[in-house]
Amino acid sequence: MSLKDFNKKTFSPLSLRTAVSSAVFITLLFAGLQWIGMGLAWPQLVLQAAGVFFISFLVVYAVTNRLHKERLKQLNKIVKNMSRKKFDDYDLSESSDELDMLIHRTVKASDSVNKELSRLNKIENYRKEFIGDISHELKTPIFAIQGFIETLLNGAVHDDDVNELFLKKAMRNVNRLIFLTNDLMEISRLETGEMKANIKDMYLRDVILDVVETLQYKAQKEDIEIHVKDFDKNIQVKADRNQIKQILTNLIENGMKYNKPGGYVEIGINDYKKSKDKLLLYVKDTGIGIEKKDLNRVTERFFRVDKSRSREKGGTGLGLAIVKHIVEAHGEKLFIESTPELGSTFSLTLTRSNNVLV
Ligand code: ADP
Repeated sequence: MSLKDFNKKTFSPLSLRTAVSSAVFITLLFAGLQWIGMGLAWPQLVLQAAGVFFISFLVVYAVTNRLHKERLKQLNKIVKNMSRKKFDDYDLSESSDELDMLIHRTVKASDSVNKELSRLNKIENYRKEFIGDISHELKTPIFAIQGFIETLLNGAVHDDDVNELFLKKAMRNVNRLIFLTNDLMEISRLETGEMKANIKDMYLRDVILDVVETLQYKAQKEDIEIHVKDFDKNIQVKADRNQIKQILTNLIENGMKYNKPGGYVEIGINDYKKSKDKLLLYVKDTGIGIEKKDLNRVTERFFRVDKSRSREKGGTGLGLAIVKHIVEAHGEKLFIESTPELGSTFSLTLTRSNNVLV
């Protein structure tokens, strides 16, 4: 009997087999006892034995069929649903025998298959979306470069009024491609787990001052002041030094990019109220801020509130996605608070270290 006709048939080969073997056993037992005890003549004995066989067969068949049928049907339904990629919630009775146990295990297997399928679907969608996003992001600068070079080749190269300007514009787009590939490589290494966090005790103030120093020139050019709020230089945290530098660079650069001339970016630490073992590292700016509806989306890959402003400032739309990845890889939390027109504060938890470094 195939699984397909399982539900339709009332006849159960499993119950039949159980009934025949039980009936044979009961009949033999009966006949043996009768023979020893009463010394019945053969014809009488055979007749009685046939009767016992028949009755015990019917009783065992009816009982086993009743005991197994519903549960076998349920098992069949679960397996059938699984093969059709349907995963319902099943009502499970208390486990009382092997069949119940088998049903429980099949339901568990169905749940695992369901979870695994959703995970694979998610990865597949992510991959498709990622490839779509990358192609879109690459297309814009490549077409721009193509346009400028074509114009130059078509004669503009001899026009001293525009040739340098077009070359500069082409160069700006080449730089965009470079930023984009660097950020893509970074995010891909983070996502594949190739870039593992090398967590060690480190002095937090040192790292902040290091990053600020490299960004100071850019800040001056943009008329933004970077200010590090004073805190104990002996404070240490457990983190990957390079990755914390990357986070700070991305957050401070954003604080500058989305700021107003004459604005400032402040970096400092606060206590983390929920745990004494952690502190909050924050980067606060006096910039354009982010509307509430966009707050949850800014850490998505390629999400920008204002595409042209981001591009004009050399943004790739990956900076905050990288920050989020690193924070999560450290097992820490990222918080974003912002008021449009007034500014934003990005803060992350870091685990304090009490070891003394030499
Ligand atoms: P981008 O390369 O575009 O800066 P990010 O991932 O770093 O990409 O940021 C995503 C978007 O979030 C930005 O395009 C911008 O719209 C917004 N954003 C990020 N940081 C700030 C900030 N400090 N102030 C205002 N908006 C910000």
